[in-house]
Amino acid sequence: MGNLIQLLPDHIANQIAAGEVIQRPASAVKELLENATDAGATQIQLIVSEGGKSLIQVIDNGKGMSETDARMAFERHATSKIRQIDDLFRINTMGFRGEALASIAAVAQVELKTRREEDELGTRLEIENSKIIVQEPCACAVGTQISMKNLFFSVPARRNFLKNNAVEMRHIIDEFMRVALAFPALAFNLTSNGQEVFHLEPGSHKQRIIQLLGNAYQTKLVSVKEETDYMNIHGLVGKPETARKTRGDQYFFVNNRFIKSAYLNHAVNTAFDNLLPKDSFPTYILYIDLDPAQVDINVHPTKQEIKFEDEKIIYAFVQAAVKHALAQFSVAPSLDFSLNAGIQQLDAINRPFTEEKKEATASSSLYQTFSKKNQAHFIEKTEDASLKHWKEFFTPANSEATQSSVASTTPLWQKENTVAKADSGIQIIYEIPFVQLHQTYLLATTRDGFIVIHQQLAHERILYEKYGQAAHGHQMATQKSLFPVSLTLAPADAALLNDLLPDLAQIGYQIEKNDQHEFVIQGIPADILPGNEQNAIELLLEQFKHFSSEIQFSKREKIIRCMARQQAIKAGRTLTSREMHQLVEELFTCNSPNISPSGAATYLLFNGDYLTRMFGK
Ligand code: ADP
Ligand code: MG
Repeated sequence: MGNLIQLLPDHIANQIAAGEVIQRPASAVKELLENATDAGATQIQLIVSEGGKSLIQVIDNGKGMSETDARMAFERHATSKIRQIDDLFRINTMGFRGEALASIAAVAQVELKTRREEDELGTRLEIENSKIIVQEPCACAVGTQISMKNLFFSVPARRNFLKNNAVEMRHIIDEFMRVALAFPALAFNLTSNGQEVFHLEPGSHKQRIIQLLGNAYQTKLVSVKEETDYMNIHGLVGKPETARKTRGDQYFFVNNRFIKSAYLNHAVNTAFDNLLPKDSFPTYILYIDLDPAQVDINVHPTKQEIKFEDEKIIYAFVQAAVKHALAQFSVAPSLDFSLNAGIQQLDAINRPFTEEKKEATASSSLYQTFSKKNQAHFIEKTEDASLKHWKEFFTPANSEATQSSVASTTPLWQKENTVAKADSGIQIIYEIPFVQLHQTYLLATTRDGFIVIHQQLAHERILYEKYGQAAHGHQMATQKSLFPVSLTLAPADAALLNDLLPDLAQIGYQIEKNDQHEFVIQGIPADILPGNEQNAIELLLEQFKHFSSEIQFSKREKIIRCMARQQAIKAGRTLTSREMHQLVEELFTCNSPNISPSGAATYLLFNGDYLTRMFGK
């Protein structure tokens, strides 16, 4: 038998490796923008077409590259940022792995033009499939211009995984905003399909935040600022009134790097305590700076998750700083700064400190806050309560049934359901009054037994089929709002909503776009109660963002499901006998009255046989 193992050709190995770094256009955008900031640029321009699929170009006025460096930059593990392993603990650049350009060159057609100040002529390179195909001197501005065309042109399997342009654009905007928020002193510009989307002048953190999140925030932000020797935190938190149903505007930066951390997010949420309405998320943009040796950014290939040397102290710090800010600006009338007294004993805060440093720190307001109370406040490192909640939000009552409905390709609302057919023999006696039990279950008499209907699940089914039919046929009737509600959204949310508008219109939501980020809800589906529309839309966006990847439904199907779930009468609501009748009647005109869209049973039927058997008589 011959030997089986072969070395992969370079270009294939490169393409595989590239997959880790460049998953979609937005990942390339992130890498290129970070390279520009690392190069000391003060002006950075991002140009994209077709959601980045056909073109991503970044132009910076940074330090540029020599001819040799320009060639080297595209080699795997080629970096000017670290030389030895110890450097990993002193990183103050965004990049350091030396993988980004190599990965980009493996999956797109790249053109680079770059010039250093000291050189008269710059260098132009063209690269395809990781190979330099053109190299020539060129006249160009100081700095670097890099463009990548036809992302994944050589890896169709990957290209097919990309979402539509609007979705990819949203991811790009997300990345762009993160970098722009991290570097407010730099000028940024974003152009998409020839239209300028952002034009950001250099300014303070606050100015940048307002440029990006919208003027509405001008008077609604509170500054956070605490400094100790161990770490500094600064930034802004939204007053409670800016809290949203969507998790949109929440940003943590650690040493200028955007990170995702459910743990720190929890710290902020608890600092707001009961200032926020239930199920809403505070707005925050917080910058934490600490000794790079105290963080390990090497955990994640795209570097959005980091490990702190000591997480607990960071948690306590963030929480105390936010509480302090809210109290100072009398957003919170009286706050209790009871924090774990043990914090000050924590190794991390003691270790790097000399005696005098300790003294200086001890006088800082935050440290005093820490030590003010001896009463211990246990800082839980357990699962984020609100996260748990959000998971539940979409966890179906009956997961087995859901799995099968996920697997099937026909949406439930149009499926001929055999069980339902069999059940259509149910004869409800409408003349005998219905009973509502525990404001949740409707009890009705049938010809030979009785039926217990879950009001919420039943209503979800009804709405699901209604919306489903509307979405695929006749548009639903709209009731005009007497007082149109306006919605100001963060850019990514705005892009998402914009993308959903046609489908929402189909199910009766009449929403107009006022400008880039502002929408006005002019009308809502005729048969839902007004007064809840802003919430409904925000929730929808939230569900879309956080759950869209988990469930393999079409956009339409997702909207229908989200809306049915949201608008359904909830368990716990008292119904009049007319409402009960209507609900039951409508349920039994459904195609599949017996299961909710997420697959739970909508009713339990107790027939005469069963009763006789139970009683043995
Ligand atoms: P990393 O950023 O991790 O070092 P990259 O693959 O992103 O790796 O870039 C490789 C090298 O190319 C960088 O270390 C840097 O020296 C150089 N480089 C990349 N982009 C630029 C740029 N816009 N301006 C100047 N030099 C750059
Ligand atoms: Mg880089």
